[in-house]
Amino acid sequence: MSTTSLCMHGTAPPPCQIGRAKSLRLSALRHHGRSASNTSGMLRPTRRYAGPPHGTGNLAAPVLQLLERHGGIVSTRELRDIGVQPTSLELYRHYYSLQAVRQGWHCAPTVPQVSRLAWRFGGPLACISALALHAVRDGYGESADTSVAQPLHICVPSNRDLVPSPALLARRWGIELPLPPVIHWSTADYRSGDRRAVSRVVALRQADSCVSLRLST
Ligand SMILES: [Zn+2]
Repeated sequence: MSTTSLCMHGTAPPPCQIGRAKSLRLSALRHHGRSASNTSGMLRPTRRYAGPPHGTGNLAAPVLQLLERHGGIVSTRELRDIGVQPTSLELYRHYYSLQAVRQGWHCAPTVPQVSRLAWRFGGPLACISALALHAVRDGYGESADTSVAQPLHICVPSNRDLVPSPALLARRWGIELPLPPVIHWSTADYRSGDRRAVSRVVALRQADSCVSLRLST
């Protein structure tokens, strides 16, 4: 079989075309003011890592539904259970579509700082802190983040032994030293709302009987 017939079947270009392609490439380089003497180094492909491709940080519909169901805070295990691979999670984190909120837990960027801090202590906002968040959600009241200056009331399951100290959280997450929270221990209350705050009904009941509030008045 001749060289010409190989070229027609696409298995090997004839020498004349190779030479033409090379001369076109060198011509293009000269057009950009570069000499042909250093072409070999300039044509070498770079291996520098430029990060993941754009657009891959968009959250998939099942992830958005999971976030919606839990108030924007989800665990690594829950993400894995709906099929999110470690690589996808890495991309979500890279593009800040999900942010670290606690070890093994992630949140949507829209989750307010007060809810992140409460979750780092061990549960959702409770009592008057939850009521403040519900007021913001309903369209009245100040931004929930302004109440970080006050001790947060949070709800922790009854079987939890202890909560991390404010100093530990400040050191671990690089945040300003928070005030010690007021803890409402109740597994039922913990499950009443979502992971940002207990339900409004429960928050009202907690505020009505909160020992800390009685002591402060
Ligand atoms: Zn309280």
